[in-house]
Amino acid sequence: MNDAILVINAGSSSLKFAGYADTGAAEPELIGKGQIEGIGTSAYFTVKDEEGNLIGEYRWPEDITVTHADGLEYLISWIQENATDVRVAAAGHRVVHGGLAFSTATLINDNVLAELEKLVPLAPLHQPHNLSAIQTLASLHPELPQVACFDTAFHRTQPPVAQLFALPRSMTEGGVRRYGFHGLSYEYIVRKLPDYASDASRVVVAHLGSGASMCAIRDGNSVESTMGFTAVDGLPMGTRTGALDPGVMLYCVQELGMNAVGIEKLLYKESGLLGVSGISNDMRDLINSDQPEAREAIDLFIYHVSKQIGALAAALEGIDALVFTAGIGENSPEIRERVCQRAAWLGITFDSEANQARGPRISTEDSPVSAWVIPTDEERMIAIHTARVLKD
Ligand code: ADP
Repeated sequence: MNDAILVINAGSSSLKFAGYADTGAAEPELIGKGQIEGIGTSAYFTVKDEEGNLIGEYRWPEDITVTHADGLEYLISWIQENATDVRVAAAGHRVVHGGLAFSTATLINDNVLAELEKLVPLAPLHQPHNLSAIQTLASLHPELPQVACFDTAFHRTQPPVAQLFALPRSMTEGGVRRYGFHGLSYEYIVRKLPDYASDASRVVVAHLGSGASMCAIRDGNSVESTMGFTAVDGLPMGTRTGALDPGVMLYCVQELGMNAVGIEKLLYKESGLLGVSGISNDMRDLINSDQPEAREAIDLFIYHVSKQIGALAAALEGIDALVFTAGIGENSPEIRERVCQRAAWLGITFDSEANQARGPRISTEDSPVSAWVIPTDEERMIAIHTARVLKD
């Protein structure tokens, strides 16, 4: 019987999971991964093996409202019935916010949970779901060690000025500061970098998915990121605005009579690629569309990514390598090409053929600054952290 780590990433209407064999090797081995979609409505469970073959599925009856707890209970019983050669030894959770206190993955106990509860107001859309998955699992299996892995932790190495807003000190002390997100993805890229750009010290990583951010990394440590207090800052995303003149918020309240609920919807759900194009939040749909609004949404995305490369290179006082990752970064040669062409002034000599072949190196051998495509794997990073915490 092999020990396994169950990785849980609980969102508002979905629960993603993965199982890794903890063989004691540096990298846990993937056994399978899956998700439960449609939580809160008519839910659908799927699980695939390590090669991507569907090995289990279940659709709840339409008239049943499936909660996160129902989903987790089903997952545990599915594992017990179908993966009889593994013993779940621990669970590792993606937790969006670790505040200032948690700068590394942490074994969860009642005190840790109480501290994480206090951070709910800083990430009201994500933190409650992350914590409720921990609580549910604790009530189903109180003996199971659970580890919290934070999206913010990797950024705690940023210098104080990168974490500070130009706000009165009392607000900063109350927690209104720049935390940074997508840290598990950036950490995974840092782990992989020696296999690619082994001599790069100053690296800009572009995590371009439906949530998108960029990070400036010096010698493996985060020094700046485009996401700040919340995961709506920085780049325009699938449905999120990215950075916005704060005066727009005042205008929304004072002139348009909008309240917090309306503004939250505007910032997180109605804007970004979807808002500008009026067509879709999915980059693939926009690339395949001949509508001018779709082109404009893509142009805006490219423009902001390009601008941030300059800003992050300034934070690093130079740049040795640029890395593309996540859904758009890994899969869209067109977006990578347009971003790299605009970054020629920084010293990137683009290799079009290598880019079509997905690199991994998409700059020429003699390019002063190298550019790369490196697939990220946040779930694996959580498994690595969890295995490490268990051994400590
Ligand atoms: P998240 O984890 O934030 O949900 P992902 O990293 O999975 O996001 O990225 C999802 C996004 O990647 C999709 O919304 C889609 O826009 C984009 N994407 C995936 N494949 C392609 C592709 N071939 N070309 C362009 N965009 C793509």
